[in-house]
Amino acid sequence: MSGLHLKDLSKRFGNFTAVDDVELTVPHGTFVCMLGPSGCGKTTLLRMIAGLEEPSAGSVVLDDEDLTPVPTHKRNFGMVFQSLALFPHLTVGENIAYPLRIRGIDKDKRRKRVEELLALVHLPDYAARPVSKLSGGQRQRVAIARALALSPRLFLLDEPLSALDAKLREAMQVELRQLQQKLGITTIVVTHDQREAMTMADLVVVMGEGRIRQAASPMEIYRKPADAFVADFIGSTNLLEVEADSVGRAVFLGQPIAGLSLPEGMAKGLVSIRPENVHLTENTNGAIRGRVTFIRDLGGTIETFVEAGGTIIVAVTTPRERSNVEAGAEVGVTLPAESCVVLQQ
Ligand code: ATP
Repeated sequence: MSGLHLKDLSKRFGNFTAVDDVELTVPHGTFVCMLGPSGCGKTTLLRMIAGLEEPSAGSVVLDDEDLTPVPTHKRNFGMVFQSLALFPHLTVGENIAYPLRIRGIDKDKRRKRVEELLALVHLPDYAARPVSKLSGGQRQRVAIARALALSPRLFLLDEPLSALDAKLREAMQVELRQLQQKLGITTIVVTHDQREAMTMADLVVVMGEGRIRQAASPMEIYRKPADAFVADFIGSTNLLEVEADSVGRAVFLGQPIAGLSLPEGMAKGLVSIRPENVHLTENTNGAIRGRVTFIRDLGGTIETFVEAGGTIIVAVTTPRERSNVEAGAEVGVTLPAESCVVLQQ
């Protein structure tokens, strides 16, 4: 099968398991973002794919070739790390040409390839500039160009944009995605920034405590999180404790949520509902009753915090949808069943 296959990959450091039995298939040309909180094993997994870390168990297979015993420098992977590791005393062109020189590629070909790569990362005419005089975003592009110089089989990046300020980071996310689409190269990016993952990825891999919690498209992860950990980690969500009544309906604060049942055999569970799907009404008849504790007007969106039976529920609306509710008002809270995801507690 063409693509990358991680088979039962694990990494233990002494008694500690940093990566625990990871199984993942990545079709050729996919942009993968590995996402998760600090210490969840993202970097260790990437390093095993790169061949920088030896797996304790399992294998890394690319296009049906088992690469596990193949040393890093023979894998032909392009890599960019947060530190970038550019040579500060060399020019942009010399930095990008470096892997080509090591490979023994002659000078004319090197120059041509450097020009191609500089055009690709939108830095034409930069070849002769010293790296030390570049901005953060420009350095990033040089590191990307250098990593792509040998047309790698796989492009691996560890927190490549985290040193950039927020605005530039967002611009670079779009640029990186467009570049990847143009080249069609299978790319794996480690990040702890869920917005970054949602912007760039075809496949988001959410990790927690060394394991894959969910691997799916950004929309699927957002709309159908596999568990409470994923729901909470991706975007903001309301996690509401519900229980089943005698006919299996999901009951929140003594009130059934219309049209929502718990799976058979589940007595208690959690309902995840995104704030933009929570409806507030001035009329409390038949709705869950709550009291508005705080309204945060962010200009483009308005967040309304409602306290109901000791739980805070957040509703997000746009200024156009804004109701007349004020802090302190009693409101009805409606949870449309089609926007609710039932999860194990
Ligand atoms: P971060 O976002 O903070 O970089 P991460 O998800 O990339 O985190 P890893 O760097 O893969 O996490 O580390 C996973 C766990 O393995 C951490 O608890 C870390 O302390 C541990 N770990 C990583 N490398 C080693 C090592 N060489 N020796 C011992 N423990 C290690």
